[in-house]
Amino acid sequence: MRKVIIKNSAEDKIRSHNQWIYRNELKKVPKNIQNGEIVEVFSPAGKFLGTGYINPESKISLRMLTFFKRKNITQLLKERIKTAVNKRKQMGINANAYRLIHSEADFLPGLTADFYNGHITVQFNTAGMDRLKTQITQILIETVKPESIIDKSDEKVREKEGLETQHSQLYGETPDRVVIQENGINFYAYLKEGQKTGAFLDQRKNRKTVSDYVKNGFTVLDLFSNSGGFGIYSKRKGAKKVVFVDISDSAVKQVEENCRLNSITEFTAVKANAFDYLKEEKNKYDLIILDPPSFAKTQKEKEGALRGFKYLIVKSLKLLNQNGLLAVFSCSYHINMEDLASVSLSAAADTKSTLQIEEFMYQDKDHPALLNMPSTLYLKGLLMRKL
Ligand code: SAH
Repeated sequence: MRKVIIKNSAEDKIRSHNQWIYRNELKKVPKNIQNGEIVEVFSPAGKFLGTGYINPESKISLRMLTFFKRKNITQLLKERIKTAVNKRKQMGINANAYRLIHSEADFLPGLTADFYNGHITVQFNTAGMDRLKTQITQILIETVKPESIIDKSDEKVREKEGLETQHSQLYGETPDRVVIQENGINFYAYLKEGQKTGAFLDQRKNRKTVSDYVKNGFTVLDLFSNSGGFGIYSKRKGAKKVVFVDISDSAVKQVEENCRLNSITEFTAVKANAFDYLKEEKNKYDLIILDPPSFAKTQKEKEGALRGFKYLIVKSLKLLNQNGLLAVFSCSYHINMEDLASVSLSAAADTKSTLQIEEFMYQDKDHPALLNMPSTLYLKGLLMRKL
């Protein structure tokens, strides 16, 4: 293993077990280093700090795999993957689809793996993880004994690593869609054409939390619905009318198929931009869900993102019945719970509403967050009642 020396200024970060070292924190990198090469990391004074993989092409140039000396990386991967998989088994998740490996939070930076009722979808989001694909596939086969594994590495982050989108069958045969079950409700997960790895598993707990407030006869507006999770849970809890809105053709088709799967015949699925939809909508609702994609991928985009939220929340509050509920989510690390609360307060002032917080919500526990890596806590939500 070749040696990389980092600057003094980054040493404290590694001591507090932060896994990321930026390009400007590197002091000395060997010549002709390969993107994704495994390296040993040292301080300028020659103190050993850990083992990681390097990619000078990426702004996050070094990701730590361990803060100890480890020669056998395949063995390390085996331990990490087994620990992550066993952890999920003990979580008592009421579902047969869940995240097996959550990247940095499972000490496998750049690697995401989701389990869908026997089938695994993997994303290798960094050059370092991409180079370990063969070993990781083999370990997943041995540890999980899945029917199939597909590589669905199509996240934008790969560009930053100098990598292209990759779709390939790594093991067995992955069907286009599989039926998964969560909290007693069936859904199709679209393993090939779906967004992310096939479904938004991180919202499982919140779909239950929010729909537990639904009463018989409720009217529900599920904005940014994707394949319909929140709305379908609401129907199961007795909602009379549910309107799903998503900008993507395939998401709307998936809503229809998921409703059929759950014998739901009365619903409306609209392909529209949620911003435009809210401008035109006149009907009143008992529950509105706002679950947009990440509006702020960087700190710079935060202000614009909050303006977007403000617009969505103001419009939604105007459509809510007295005592109606608004669930608002952000899946961007750069927006924290206080930001969500303060933009909601500002929207409340503009609409002369009083908002009571019913629930604080976060990503479900199969997407663990690591305090030492703040970016792992990304999903936040508020369920608020308009008094
Ligand atoms: N609530 C979903 C997940 C939502 S993901 C669930 O529980 O599974 C965000 C969704 O927003 C995606 O399906 C995406 O297609 C959709 N989307 C993105 N921009 C949009 C826009 N401007 N208007 C409506 N939908 C949008």
